[in-house]
Amino acid sequence: MLAICSDLDDTPDLATYLTISRYLNTTEMTAIGTGLGLETGNTIYFHMAPGEFSYWNTDEAGRDALHALMRSGHIDCFHSYGDLAVRREQAGVCLEALAANDCHPTIWVDHAVAPTNFGPDIMFGRGDIAGDPAYHADLTLAAGVRYVWTGRVTSCLGQEVTYSPWTGLARRPDTRAALNTAKDIAKTLRGTLGDAKYSMHAGNRLTRCVTLRDGSRATEFIRCNPHPYGVSVGDHAAGIHEVLTREALSRLVTRQGYCILYTHLGKHVTPGKIFTDAAMAAFEALADEQGRGNLLVTTTTRLLDYHQMRQKIVISQNAPFLDVESHGQTLDGMTIYDVPEGTVLRIDGKPSLYLSNPPDHLGRTSISLPFRRLTYPL
Ligand SMILES: [Zn+2]
Repeated sequence: MLAICSDLDDTPDLATYLTISRYLNTTEMTAIGTGLGLETGNTIYFHMAPGEFSYWNTDEAGRDALHALMRSGHIDCFHSYGDLAVRREQAGVCLEALAANDCHPTIWVDHAVAPTNFGPDIMFGRGDIAGDPAYHADLTLAAGVRYVWTGRVTSCLGQEVTYSPWTGLARRPDTRAALNTAKDIAKTLRGTLGDAKYSMHAGNRLTRCVTLRDGSRATEFIRCNPHPYGVSVGDHAAGIHEVLTREALSRLVTRQGYCILYTHLGKHVTPGKIFTDAAMAAFEALADEQGRGNLLVTTTTRLLDYHQMRQKIVISQNAPFLDVESHGQTLDGMTIYDVPEGTVLRIDGKPSLYLSNPPDHLGRTSISLPFRRLTYPL
C-alpha cells in the first residue's frame, strides 16, 4: 500500500496545485494529460509570505476549492500553519475558518522550521510547548488531528516488514548509494540500541505512539524516500522518476510493506506542463501496478487508518459466527484469511455482508470488506 504524501512547498499557484490533484486522482482529461485514478491526499499551509501559494494567499474561490478537497479527503494534512504563523491566535483563526466549512484534516506534517511545528529535534518546533506564543497542539488535536509527522524519513522501502538496507543500493551500486545505505543502517542500529530518535527505524515501523511536550498523545508516522542517494534527493516533481522506478515499485510489492512517500510535487515543476515525461511515466507505472491489483494507492489518512485498524480490531470465531469488534476503527479493506464457507460475519454484533476473495498468490482464500474509493469533488 502506498500513499503519496506531498508537501506543497514552492507550488507556484492554485492552478498548479489543483491540476496535480486532478491528474493524480481522476481519470478525466486534465490540463497535463489523462488522469490516473491514484487516490492521493495533499497538504496545505496558511500564513506564508506574499506570492507563495497558501490558504490565505489564494482568493475566496480558491479557498472554496480547498474546502471541497478537505471535505472529500483529498487534502488531509496540515503542513504547519506556515512560515509566518508565530502566535496561537493565528492557529485559532485558521481552525475557525476550517470548522466553519466543515473541514477537519486528520494529519499534521511539520514544515521546514515553522514555529508551529511539533518536532523538537529535527524540525525545531514550538507548537506543542504549553505557554509558548506558538502553542496550538491542544487546539489542533481537538480539531481532529490524530497523526503527526515530525521529520523522520527512512530510505528503506516498505515499512512494517523486515528491514532491508538494500532497497536503494541495488539500483545504484556506487559510492554515494553505499554511503546512504550505511547512514540508514546506522540510524537503524542507533534505534535498536535505544536512541528514541530512531525507534521507528529500529523495527522498520510505520507508526508509534508519541507524547507531545504538552502531554497530549498522538500517533507519529515515518515517511520514506527510497532514492539511492538519500532521503532528500529527488524529493520533488523533477526527481520523482528516480524514486518511483519500476524496480522500486516491484520491490515494494514483493516486500508487501507500506510506503508513505516523502515528496514535494509542486517543487521544481516544468513551466506549462508541470511534470516531465519521465515523471508522468513514473506515475503511469504506479497506476499500472495498481491496475494489476499488486498495489493500492490511497491517501495518507486512509493508509494510516488501515494500519491502525489492523492493530486495534478484535476478532473471535464461534462457528458459524465470526465476530469483529471494531473499537471505532474504519474497517474499509479489512481482510481475514482462512474463513470457513458459510461463516456469518458480525461487526459489533450486527450481521454484515462481505466479499469472498479467490485464492491469493499463496493459494489462501480470504474475505474482505470493500475498500470504497473517495469521490473527487471538483
Ligand atoms: Zn514544507
